[in-house]
Amino acid sequence: VSRMGGDEFMVVIEHPNARQSAQAIANKILVALNQPIPVEGHMITIAASAGIALFPDHGSDANVLLKNADVAMYHAKELGKGRFEFYSDELAREREEQSLLEFALRQAIASDQLALFYQPRVSLRDGTIEGAEALARWFHPDLGEIPPKKFIRVAEETGLIFDLGTWVFRRACTQLKHWESRGLPIRTLSINFSARQLLMRDLADRVSAILSEVGCDPRKIEVEITETSMLFDVQTTKRVITALKRLGLRISIDDFGTGFSSLSHLQQLDIDALKVDQTFVRDLLVDAGDAAITRAVIGLGRGIGLQVIAEGVENARQLAFLKECGCDLYQGYHFSPAISGTSFEELMRLHLQATAKTTPRVGR
Ligand code: C2E
Ligand code: MG
Ligand code: MG
Repeated sequence: VSRMGGDEFMVVIEHPNARQSAQAIANKILVALNQPIPVEGHMITIAASAGIALFPDHGSDANVLLKNADVAMYHAKELGKGRFEFYSDELAREREEQSLLEFALRQAIASDQLALFYQPRVSLRDGTIEGAEALARWFHPDLGEIPPKKFIRVAEETGLIFDLGTWVFRRACTQLKHWESRGLPIRTLSINFSARQLLMRDLADRVSAILSEVGCDPRKIEVEITETSMLFDVQTTKRVITALKRLGLRISIDDFGTGFSSLSHLQQLDIDALKVDQTFVRDLLVDAGDAAITRAVIGLGRGIGLQVIAEGVENARQLAFLKECGCDLYQGYHFSPAISGTSFEELMRLHLQATAKTTPRVGR
């Protein structure tokens, strides 16, 4: 047994049945470390994570074995503390892909590979386009289009989310300003903030600086925070929401219904809108449970004075259901996927013309 430095320790085991004995010993160590320790009258519990690399499967020399045990340990940490994981080829491939993506993403932020696309948010009351949600897109010259779920995760894990988030916010504000200057009647442009971004010490200052630099109206900007990231650190979330509200921004809770926020907690937060998670909308015609949840979320949101937005609306029957429930706005492929800023402007102009033609003119 030796200490590698900091809070890292190494155990070398020689045994003919390496996999099983390593597993048994890792378990014993984790259980032993998890015993409460009395410190100045308080009981303190700590947890450890362990990674295991086997000779010769996972490396034929000490350096490789150590490196791979380290990779396995980080994987164990990611899966939740207090557990152990074996090294595997799959893990190695994932790591490799992660570090390639990290490198590529750094370049993408600096060069012009990232774009923002805009998905229309449509009123269920009168069918007008109320605004849009900005969604990040990455078109890599060799790898093709990389889905946001994938690169946002890498950005969060590597801290690149701070730069990426700032880029997204500035880009969205600039687009809004551009649309405003061309007379496009956008009421709201919503922008996604990730859980990690909320932990950024100077988030509100940065946001404020970008708002005044670009000169756009903060009341037209809505920050989307996912329900699960809100629950991650309730105090921080509260503080951040208060600071952003003070700047005049709107706040909505994204993917609502997937976390477990308490209703009283919801009422305490100064928020403006709820976005019903698309998994409920997707199955509401086939699953009575999802239909009931959707109806309940809409009722709840409206009951406490929030705007309710349904995501992932793909057909007219879902739309009719949502309308009947009293939902305010919707987004989804049924109306339009996320499109470029230029296409969005064209779509909105066409839509404005079409609705102007069909709306009867009163008083003429
Ligand atoms: P989200 O914010 O919940 O965005 C909705 C996702 O649903 C988008 O996926 C959108 O393209 C997709 N979608 C829209 N309509 C439909 C539909 O009718 N059917 C289906 N099946 N899907 C639909 P996308 O663009 O791949 O983004 C995925 C997630 O990545 C977003 O979920 C958001 O959490 C995150 N994301 C995207 N852009 C950003 C960003 O700029 N910053 C941060 N922090 N996260 C972002
Ligand atoms: Mg969103
Ligand atoms: Mg969502």
